[in-house]
Order: sequence, then C-alpha cells, then structure tokens
Amino acid sequence: MPVTQKKTEVSLVGMDVPALEKILVEIGEPRFRARQLFNWIYARKVPAFRDMRNIPKTLRRRLESEAVIHTLTKVGHSGSDSDSTRKYLFQLVTGEMIEAVWMREKNRVTVCLSTQVGCAADCAFCATGRMGFRRNLTPGEILDQFLLLQAESEPRITNVVFMGMGEPFLNYRNVMQAAELLNHPDGISLGARKITVSTVGIIPKILRFADERRRFKLAISLNSARQEQRQKIMPVAKNYPLPELLSAARYYYQKTRNHPTFEYVLMAGINDSGNDARRLIRLIGELPCKVNVIPYNEIGSKIKRPDDDRVERFVRTLYNAPFTVTVRWSRGVDIGAGCGQLAVPLNEDPR
Ligand code: SAH
Repeated sequence: MPVTQKKTEVSLVGMDVPALEKILVEIGEPRFRARQLFNWIYARKVPAFRDMRNIPKTLRRRLESEAVIHTLTKVGHSGSDSDSTRKYLFQLVTGEMIEAVWMREKNRVTVCLSTQVGCAADCAFCATGRMGFRRNLTPGEILDQFLLLQAESEPRITNVVFMGMGEPFLNYRNVMQAAELLNHPDGISLGARKITVSTVGIIPKILRFADERRRFKLAISLNSARQEQRQKIMPVAKNYPLPELLSAARYYYQKTRNHPTFEYVLMAGINDSGNDARRLIRLIGELPCKVNVIPYNEIGSKIKRPDDDRVERFVRTLYNAPFTVTVRWSRGVDIGAGCGQLAVPLNEDPR
C-alpha cells in the first residue's frame, strides 16, 4: 500500500546544483557536497541516501530524517513486464494521481511524461481534457516520473516525450527545468534531440522557446488545417489562430534551424478527407518540417477512428508534399495508454 510522504520533508529530485547548494549551506554543510548529491541522484540514480558513499554518515543521517530523494509514489502499472507498453500510475504528495507511459521497441525505450494534473486546453478528442485543470506539476514531479520508470526499465530509457497529461507550454518554466535536468551532462545526460515537447499551440511560448534557443524537439498539435474547425475541436485555437501559429513555427525554424513536427490526429469524417490533406499541404507550404499522422484513439465519445484504408489514402495524398510524413500507430490502446487516453479520477482516494 503506498504511503503518502510527509509534506514537511524536502524532496531533492527536481533540484539543480544551486538549489542543492542552498539547502546544504542552510544546514551548515560545504557547498561542494551539492555536486556529489547531484551525481548520486541523477547520474548514479541511487535509491537511498545510505548508498551515497562519499557523503559523511552524519550528513546522510540528517538527510534521511529531513529529506527524501523521490517525490512520487508508484501506485501501480498495467501491462505485464514482458509487454512492450506499460502505463504507470503515480501519486503526488498532495494526493492527486498522474499517469506516465513506458514503450519499448527493440533497443529504443520512450517514456511519455505528464506535465500537469488534468489540462485546461479542453480539446474535444482528448480524455485528459475531461478532467479539467487541477494544477501544474513541479520540476521534481515531472522528473521523478522519469527516474522511477528508469529504475524499472530494461534496457535504459532512450527518449522522452512530454505528451502525457497536461499542456507543457502552460507550465513552461517547470517543464524546461525538468528537460534541462534530463539533458544535464553531469546527471541523466539524455541528448536534447531525444527529448520532445509537444504543445497544443501556445504561440507566445513557441516564440520564447525559439528565442531561448532550446535544443529540444518541438511538436505542435495541429489536428486541422481549417481555423473554423480547429477552434471547434481545440478551444485554445480561438486565441492562437492558424496563420499566426504557422508564422510562429516558421520563426522557430529560422531561429533554431530545427524542423518542427506537426501532429495531426486523424478523426473519421472530421479531418480525414482528400481535401483535408490538400489543405494541410497548402497551409504548411515550404516550411521544413515533419507531419506525424496519429489515427485517433477512441475514448468513448462520438469521435471515431477512420478505417485503415482511409488512413492510408490520407497519408498517400501527403506523399506529394515537400515535408516528411510518418504515421504513429499508438501503442497500448488496449490498456488505455494511447495518445489522448490518459485520465485518472480526481476524487478517488486509493489508500
Ligand atoms: N497538450 C500537448 C501534449 C499532450 S497530447 C499537446 O496537445 O500537444 C499528445 C498528442 O496526443 C497531441 O498531439 C494530441 O493531439 C494527441 N491526442 C490527443 N487525444 C488523442 C486521441 N484520443 N487519439 C490520438 N491522439 C490524441
């Protein structure tokens, strides 16, 4: 049975070296211990303070009584250990639950992490939107999903996508801090190009991401090339219209020379016709980018997935376009771990 951590304890996951220095100095310890702690937590990923061999025993004891390494509690997972997709349920110290997904394909292991409890974007086709928005996750809560999944992952995690519950660009600072810590060469040291941030299309944050020259991959959930329809299925589109969204994507390319990916969830009778495909080609024009077509995962609403023939036809039309096209057949749909299927009841207390 999961034990909820006491709120008075400090959890160290999510802290960078300056933050660790601050708490060490406050308790009268030398600054250099911060780098040692950083190395134990992120590079060696030890489960307990007692394993931190170059930290004096007195300090280890003190840390044991006043701090914890991890902030999340794993409540369970679905999908068996031999399966290639597993969905994990974690509890936060504040009691809410979040989900993360682990996917393996040969030696490539991708984890899909949550960035918020619930989501404010309210997209008509996504299960997370139905929960409404509860709160932002802290950098530690975001990163701890990775560390707890890594502890059980064989082989090692090679890719991270911020495509779980929530909208990363409505929690920009915390998501960037978590991503920078994933990438930090003295810690987890995951390559920046192995980390993808996916946004519903929050334009000011796309511009900021470009201005800050973030090296992580950027994915933009387009889902429709028609403004009128896009704002019907994605209410945020009213504030962030298509022409401006495309200009922001172009700006991102010009600043970083990285190709953005456009995600396009294919929904039967909504955005899957030949005309829709041609409109998409016209909208994107010559912008160097990739388009990732995602056949819709049903979540018990009126929206349906087109049959495979129709998916095929849509994709074939796009082959005439100047951009690269891929199809993402979601994994773990049978265990509710596919794109857009992540949602947990907010009022259920599992204890
Ligand atoms: N809020 C972010 C990240 C979470 S969603 C975003 O919108 O990008 C990750 C991807 O899953 C998005 O491209 C989204 O459009 C897609 N998605 C949402 N619901 C889906 C569903 N039911 N089936 C397939 N893809 C879905």
